[in-house]
Amino acid sequence: MVLHTQQEQSHLNIIEIAIPLYLDRTFHYLVPESLRDQILSGRRALVPFGNRKLTGYILGIVSDSAIANLKEIIAVLDNEPLWTVQELEFFRWTASYYQHPLGEVVRTALPAGINIQTRKGTSGAHEAFTGGKSARREKFYLSGTVALPSRQPGTKALEILAVIRDSGEISAADLRTRFGTCTAQLKRLTELGLSRVEEREVFRDPFKDHRVARDEPRLLHSHQKAALSAISACLAGERFTPFLLYGVTGSGKTEVYLQAISHALELGKNALVLVPEIALTPQLTGRFQARFGGGIAILHSGLSDGERYDEWRRIRRGLARIVIGARSAIFAPLEKIGIIIVDEEHEASFKQSDGLRYNARDLALVRGQMMQAAVVLGSATPLVTSIHAAAEGRLTLLALPDRVAGRPMPLVELVAMKGSKETISTTLSAQLAETYLQHRQAIVFLNRRGFATFLVCTDCGKPLTCPNCSVTLTYHRQRGQSLCHYCDYAVPAPGTCPACTGAALTELGAGTEKLEHDLKELLPTARILRMDSDTTSGKGSHERLLSRMNDGSADILVGTQMIAKGHDFPEVTLVGVVNAEASLGMPDFRAAERTFQLLSQVIGRAGRGENPGRVVVQAYETEHYAIRSAAGHDAAGFYQQELEFRREAGYPPFAFLAAFAISGLAEQAVSDQADLTARLLAQLKSELKVRVEILGPAPSPLYRLRNRFRRQILLKGANRSDLHRLLACWRQRAAKISTVRISVDIDPVDMM
Ligand code: ADP
Ligand code: ZN
Repeated sequence: MVLHTQQEQSHLNIIEIAIPLYLDRTFHYLVPESLRDQILSGRRALVPFGNRKLTGYILGIVSDSAIANLKEIIAVLDNEPLWTVQELEFFRWTASYYQHPLGEVVRTALPAGINIQTRKGTSGAHEAFTGGKSARREKFYLSGTVALPSRQPGTKALEILAVIRDSGEISAADLRTRFGTCTAQLKRLTELGLSRVEEREVFRDPFKDHRVARDEPRLLHSHQKAALSAISACLAGERFTPFLLYGVTGSGKTEVYLQAISHALELGKNALVLVPEIALTPQLTGRFQARFGGGIAILHSGLSDGERYDEWRRIRRGLARIVIGARSAIFAPLEKIGIIIVDEEHEASFKQSDGLRYNARDLALVRGQMMQAAVVLGSATPLVTSIHAAAEGRLTLLALPDRVAGRPMPLVELVAMKGSKETISTTLSAQLAETYLQHRQAIVFLNRRGFATFLVCTDCGKPLTCPNCSVTLTYHRQRGQSLCHYCDYAVPAPGTCPACTGAALTELGAGTEKLEHDLKELLPTARILRMDSDTTSGKGSHERLLSRMNDGSADILVGTQMIAKGHDFPEVTLVGVVNAEASLGMPDFRAAERTFQLLSQVIGRAGRGENPGRVVVQAYETEHYAIRSAAGHDAAGFYQQELEFRREAGYPPFAFLAAFAISGLAEQAVSDQADLTARLLAQLKSELKVRVEILGPAPSPLYRLRNRFRRQILLKGANRSDLHRLLACWRQRAAKISTVRISVDIDPVDMM
């Protein structure tokens, strides 16, 4: 290894490198003579680190370093930069806001395929970006420049030539599909100058199984027009404007997105579309493909690392101008972004729950601002915080208050279930029977899977609980198991009581499996489908269930919140909701908001087609404002009441939160560490004189999870900067203990 004195160093190139480890700082390295004429930022380098060799991310050149005896990088791993200076700025912002190491942020932003190649060794990594193992090279045949010469090729070759001329260009694979082996003929055609051959890199095509017919833009109704022209004005002015597109279900939000994107493309800009993972169905992507044809990249969790990497490179090279993806797509290497759309902006799934705990919905606003882009947050049930931001003018409100084509919102009936033991009320069963007789479809929603919610011992009164997590086990009759929905712990069921060995276990509560069972008894000839995470674990199973609803080969769809989101079933005229308050009992200040959103979304599944919809909502707590407002289509009333509650209790948008999660296998160590952390925070709070409230430490609602004991401390800041000063200071001062894990979640969404 070559070491340089400080004097020598200043004449050499020094670069700043982020290492993907949990380290709060970046590192300086020297660039050896041989690499010095390359543009290095945005590429990866192999660097000596302690006695290891690691892959680091080159952030840029620094003019000087205070550190003596810098080491040299070993190799540069990419021929082209992986990210731009602007993207790097975005990564830095993200690292600083979420108090996360920059190297880890960059690693999260890059597709997993890249990192895997690096692990395999440097030789492969060298061609990572330009060649790549996941990309295929394929031959394409085009018509040659020569007219048919006197030396005629054979008949088969002539047939092939006709096809090449007809298609303009065609891949060797397509020709083989058509003509079988034809290498000899193709060689002959090329030799004679009748066709040309080009070798190109081809990317896997996420649409290959879903060819859709082209569709045309709709003539917009007046509210859509107003929304589109506001967004278009922002696009033309190239000035960051954040919009809240607040439109009831079926009001035509997607049509606004499509036309806004089309406008952006005309202006030479690109579009980034973020949707919840579960909504990323061929139904949605098909609408984009039908409108725009090619040039669309799709990023979702079903892609293999190789496919994801292919898509990533297509985007990086400018081959895709529209990127549609779940939360991680916020890091897509898309340049010239003119518009960012976040559909269903209220969805909790935009928040990553481990590692870099970012929220893609929030980062969309940050990236949009950096790009001077239009950012459109769309929802039928926006976040309470978004409604507040719109009222304060921080978001520009675009409202679509009516359904397209004057379709009415469904008629909702609230059924009080107090004192009733039935899963399905007489009102709902009558409606189901009538819908079935009319050959129309129904959806029945219950936000709990399994057969009974849990088993209780009639001898000692104790419910069956998970030994690893502090939750009850859910009884699944088909599997003959009691199952933990957190750690997958399973015991044969009904079985015996582990507390008193009693054998008289009884079922309590109902899940989707029980509901399906009861519906079959009610309507024995009806074709009933169940959709929950038990029936959708296999690849494509989700799709198959949806398509059976769409082609009319099912009458009733039973399911958890999976069925509430985004699907458009025009033939569904009845929606039933069983146990509407299931989500109200969560120990989370957002419980009312979540319940309202979920109910409104489910209710919105009814009557999206020609025929008007009806909804039966069964609830025990019929007086709760979340349930009343959802059933009464009274969103304004809900938001007003919820904002009052948030103001009184000091929750967002009236406070800024950070949550410390302290967890480990040894209960006492976790408890000690939690106390220590809270004490240090309190001390720093008084040193810094910041307005931050420290709550806890307290046991987390899920006190044990996968064998780990969990405690939490909640910080409530009166403003963001006070909260961030305290956290930054804590990061410098906290002692690291290896047996207990401490993670900090900025703007936490999951409070369990
Ligand atoms: P949302 O995204 O708000 O649920 P969509 O954009 O999916 O609503 O619109 C609901 C249905 O109405 C879709 O079938 C869509 O094609 C249709 N639609 C939307 N806008 C118009 C319009 N201006 N004229 C006619 N049909 C429309
Ligand atoms: Zn468990």
